[in-house]
Amino acid sequence: MNTTVPEKGQISIHTENIFPIIKKFLYSDHEIFLRELVSNAVDASQKLKKLASFGEFNGELGELKVTVTLDKEAKTITVSDRGIGMTAEEIKKYINQIAFSGASEFLEKYKDKIDEKGAIIGHFGLGFYSAFMVAEKVEIVTKSFREGSEAARWICDGSTEFEITTAERDEHGTDVILHIAADSEEFLDAPRLQTILEKYGRFLPVSVEFDGKVINNTAPIWTKSPSELKDEDYLNFYKELYPFSEDPLFWIHLNVDYPFTLTGVLYFPKIKNDFQVRREKIQLYSRQVFITDEVRDIVPDFLMLLHGVIDSPDIPLNVSRSFLQADSNVKKINGYITRKVADKLSEIFRNDRAGFEQKFDDIGLFVKYGIISDEKFYEKAKEFCLVKNIAETPKYFTFEEFSETVKETQTDRNGTLVWLYATDPQKQDGFIGSARRRGYEVLLLDNVIDSHFINTLEYKLEKTSLKRVDADTIDKLIDKGLDNESVLSEEDRNRLKALFEEALNNKAATVSVEAMPTDELPVTITLPEFFRRMKDMSALSGERQMFGGMPDSYNVAVNANHPLADRILKTADAEDQKTLVKQVLDLARLAQGMLSGTDLTAFIRRTAETL
Ligand code: ADP
Repeated sequence: MNTTVPEKGQISIHTENIFPIIKKFLYSDHEIFLRELVSNAVDASQKLKKLASFGEFNGELGELKVTVTLDKEAKTITVSDRGIGMTAEEIKKYINQIAFSGASEFLEKYKDKIDEKGAIIGHFGLGFYSAFMVAEKVEIVTKSFREGSEAARWICDGSTEFEITTAERDEHGTDVILHIAADSEEFLDAPRLQTILEKYGRFLPVSVEFDGKVINNTAPIWTKSPSELKDEDYLNFYKELYPFSEDPLFWIHLNVDYPFTLTGVLYFPKIKNDFQVRREKIQLYSRQVFITDEVRDIVPDFLMLLHGVIDSPDIPLNVSRSFLQADSNVKKINGYITRKVADKLSEIFRNDRAGFEQKFDDIGLFVKYGIISDEKFYEKAKEFCLVKNIAETPKYFTFEEFSETVKETQTDRNGTLVWLYATDPQKQDGFIGSARRRGYEVLLLDNVIDSHFINTLEYKLEKTSLKRVDADTIDKLIDKGLDNESVLSEEDRNRLKALFEEALNNKAATVSVEAMPTDELPVTITLPEFFRRMKDMSALSGERQMFGGMPDSYNVAVNANHPLADRILKTADAEDQKTLVKQVLDLARLAQGMLSGTDLTAFIRRTAETL
């Protein structure tokens, strides 16, 4: 038997094994190297500015800009700054010890002196090594700001071997020279570099120059206090972000210090009914360095259609999405943004109802989406979300106002309020007209999102149900609107019913003969609300087989008081009677858009003949 002696030991990690891993997997996007190096250069410049302000640097600050240079011949990209620089000792400490971040140490040392917006970007201690994703050799030539420091040169070819020598450099600051590897020569291209720089560095706090031009705006508006800014500044910034867009409707300046740090400006664009608006319009920054425009998880889904900028050093950046979802800061940020947006909308609603109504066609989509998807948002939005009626001069109502308006006329026998709505005023014109003649209010809910919105409302609003204007219940809504005496006898009504049932020849459809006002249509086809909604929903989600394939169940209401009812009954010839019934029925089907193909052709033929 073989016995193993228990043994404890330590797993040793050799850097030579880690390097290729960093090189390959540190960032999936290789272009990030430029973001990291420029951020480091910006940090070094900011640090020097800070030290000068503490009185720890008395030399000439000069212009602290960062310069990026491309040398196609030499196959190098150089990032230069005039920041604090490093001594040989510091290189050994900060650069050679991967993951020993000088930034954390600096922050620790000066934490009492640096305000939260103190802008030191790096704190991962790995950024510099992203250079090896594209370079076969990296050179640093640097000179510390400290008086009497000697310039130093560090060279490393991506293995664990490095070399430090003295160097020539007049000024404090650092040049990082990347000797681009053969497989990364795509980066030796000025337009490409320009694009990458603009993408990540557009709002860096220190001027960044490439090809003789400064590529950034060092003081974007989100870093300023709202009290310093005018509407014009917000509008100009919007134009800067989205050059060819229409002006936004309004904006929200985000600014929070606790329990997380977040600044930013979110704009409400004009979107109308267009659900296809490009998302990914919100850009995420960390201390003015662009990180991503994939803000899913950080911004609530219903606000993804907003535009603008969010800047937070508290959002973890180099981690996987699943981590991001679980991150408690991210959750808090999400909640904060929702609250701010709700508060802003509520404020506009209270202070400028007319202006709010004007904007509602554009923002209704956000608001409804929010109501459907976010309980907390609903709690606030139920006060200001508007619904519009169909009228010569349409009016907007809050939920409460609308319920109050229809309370008297649209309560059914069980005491449930019935909100009537139309989804297509063209197609449902006849039904809308007849509802309105009876003094009912009909809401216009024709947005793509409205079918979900209706379900949510019904679930949320107490003792209220929503019925489309052509729903089967409309006639039974309230008795008093319809208490016309029937001019037909019970027997005649049964005869009529039988005639229509025969003509219909559809087991799923039901026929009722009702006493309606004489000016109503002779026959009205109505669809049961529930069934119709199911059909609509399955059509929307593409699950046609679910309900789409079901037989059409609908109600045919014959108006016993219409002169045509009388005429049908009095037509002696059986064939003529059948034709008349068919004709009247087809008219109703036409009104519901149910007549098509050969049925439609036959109807037109018959009508022509009759005429
Ligand atoms: P991080 O920036 O996340 O701290 P890096 O690997 O990018 O990590 O950099 C490590 C350290 O090297 C920095 O914290 C800083 O102290 C030093 N460093 C890097 N680039 C520069 C530079 N351009 N000037 C001065 N110091 C630098």
